[in-house]
Amino acid sequence: MDYPGNLYVVSAPSGAGKSSLVKALRELDSLVQPSVSHTTRAPRGQEKHGREYFFTSDQEFDAMVAANGFVEWANVHGRRYGTSRKAIEDRVGQGSDVILEIDFQGAMQVKKTFANAVLIFILPPSWEELRSRLERRGEDEAAVIETRLVNAAEEMAQACNFDFVIINEVFERALFDLKSIVHAQRLKYAAQRRARADTFESLHIP
Ligand code: 5GP
Repeated sequence: MDYPGNLYVVSAPSGAGKSSLVKALRELDSLVQPSVSHTTRAPRGQEKHGREYFFTSDQEFDAMVAANGFVEWANVHGRRYGTSRKAIEDRVGQGSDVILEIDFQGAMQVKKTFANAVLIFILPPSWEELRSRLERRGEDEAAVIETRLVNAAEEMAQACNFDFVIINEVFERALFDLKSIVHAQRLKYAAQRRARADTFESLHIP
């Protein structure tokens, strides 16, 4: 599918800092829009339907899968998560930049539909740091942390399938890396040709 907007897909093991980085990018760059996924997991804390996720029943999720309503969906930690096809197609079709925070299985599926999607994998600087971030976060019990670390090994082995890798050692540096990727996309010929059509025309460039 050809489309004028950029589609960014960010994946990372839990604890690598993916959500904080994407949040910081969005605060700096209002042109990058988030995508709200559907999930069968229950809301946590202050989460609101339609803001963090569309919280759906298993039946609603099944119906969307049957109707080909997801551009990708996957089972993550025992729950299903999916990205609405229509929401993405409409926005990138209109030229918006959209960023998806999804797991690696979903990222691979997105690339099949949106060949130009920019896949970005966030890594922690080391195992020790990943473990200590998960422990400091204080959200999970010891057994859950062990499971997350086992899953992290499997997830990180997928980094080779991504276009870009950011090592989140120093937050500001990782944010700079993420901004640079977004910026570079906007400097591509086709993007510049669209954004600066007047300049191209005045310079007689096709
Ligand atoms: P959480 O339940 O903690 O919000 O998210 C758990 C995991 O599900 C995260 O790794 C997140 O990236 C992933 N995830 C969230 N939304 C989607 C989605 O729409 N598709 C896929 N494949 N993964 C998702």
